[in-house]
Amino acid sequence: MSAHRNYINGAWVESAAAPIVDRNPSDIDDVVGSYAAADAAQTRRAIEAARAAFPAWSRSSIQERADLLDAVGSRILSRAQEIGRLLAREEGKTLKEAVGETMRAGHVFKFHAGQALRITGELVDSPRKGVSVTVQREPLGVIGIITPWNFPIAIPAWKIAPALAYANCVVFKPASLVPGCAHVVAELLADCGCPPGVFNLVVGSGREVGDAIVNAPEVDAISFTGSVETGRALAARAVAGMKKIQLEMGGKNPLIVLDDADLDNAVECAVQGAFYSTGQRCTATSRVIVTPGIYGRFRHALLARTTALVVGDALDEKTQIGPAVDAAQLKTDLDYIAVGQKEGARLVVGGERQPAPKNGFYIQPTVFEDVHNQMRIAREEIFGPVVSLLRAQDYEEALATANDTPFGLSGGICTTSLKHADHFRRNAQVGLAMINAPTAGVDYHVPFGGVKGSSYGSREQGAYAVEFYTRVKTVYTNANIAG
Ligand code: ADP
Repeated sequence: MSAHRNYINGAWVESAAAPIVDRNPSDIDDVVGSYAAADAAQTRRAIEAARAAFPAWSRSSIQERADLLDAVGSRILSRAQEIGRLLAREEGKTLKEAVGETMRAGHVFKFHAGQALRITGELVDSPRKGVSVTVQREPLGVIGIITPWNFPIAIPAWKIAPALAYANCVVFKPASLVPGCAHVVAELLADCGCPPGVFNLVVGSGREVGDAIVNAPEVDAISFTGSVETGRALAARAVAGMKKIQLEMGGKNPLIVLDDADLDNAVECAVQGAFYSTGQRCTATSRVIVTPGIYGRFRHALLARTTALVVGDALDEKTQIGPAVDAAQLKTDLDYIAVGQKEGARLVVGGERQPAPKNGFYIQPTVFEDVHNQMRIAREEIFGPVVSLLRAQDYEEALATANDTPFGLSGGICTTSLKHADHFRRNAQVGLAMINAPTAGVDYHVPFGGVKGSSYGSREQGAYAVEFYTRVKTVYTNANIAG
């Protein structure tokens, strides 16, 4: 099988290195494709191409950029079933989730096509007579985009589309586990007429390709989504190189369930948030904090729903929960389950590999109870379908427990009390507050990001993306001149 090549300076480039073999986590005997691994020298070429393309691209018309992004968005939407199938095959989320993610990526491109047409500035009076001041937005230059495997098309889309909309050039390094969707995005940009060098794809390891991007003086900014450890290490180097950075990292997202909650909705929020996409979302619910008046009923209904979930091949229409993405993530999930048991938490559902007809990384959706908030399973991100039930005497204790975490991405509350919902909205230490809604599942036209250890830098997505992908210049014009 010939390897899919990297896209550098408008050309598809071969590599001498051993290719990356993309396997289906639902069935590891199924090879999705073979992808050329870029090395540091090729990454340098991509960065230099982006730098060289920037002067012309920074002067491109807003119509040209809007048309490009709109065309890419339309093609993604018209091929959503096919791309979604590829996504489900390489990442392991269900076909329904994968098609949904693909549609979202299409909508993201179209949204930012519109944003390219809406770049505004300000005209400000000066205290000095005859002087006016304008504040105008400018592109940054070359953006290094480094993405994880859990949203193989949506996360690249929500970084690449605004980067290009605001006239930046891009060097894109996807996670090595999901090069297929990254390749689709590159092909579409190439087919829709993106000028050479403006967008470059370099598939490869974090150590070689990622490091080359982060260390390059020609790269002006890095937008990263991934693990806390990688994010922190990358941030230190990026700041040393005076780059602008934006990091989206982990979560340990709480869902509070109060006595007055709508029981069915609360159970649905917990199941949806904790288990869908195999728990592999940074917004996944991992701590459900429940007050005494509803605990017994909620626990009973949650266990019944969890036991009934269908785990299996991502491409099988009956499947509700796909496999873990790879052997390493499956091991992490099982290791944390062992840690929870050792710490004294009580395993009430799941906890084991799920036997399946195919050779994949299947794991049972898992519920622990008798968890207290200082246990490792309540503090560290697992990134699998594992949820902990914690008890709280009342709303105040539940909120304190919810906020007692180094993370702060998403947090939810299920309640029919306006008073508690409103208090939570104001006092939850999160970037995304969900009221009677799952902690995961967000819209594409509004800001996304967290507080505390979850995020760093300005918000992603929606109109707020302009903050990261542009800077402002203040221009003083003096009309007090002769002639
Ligand atoms: P995950 O694998 O859970 O998505 P990681 O933080 O390991 O999270 O990876 C996120 C992205 O960061 C991936 O594209 C990965 O290859 C990349 N990466 C890993 N190490 C480095 C590094 N040292 N420098 C730059 N990028 C890296």
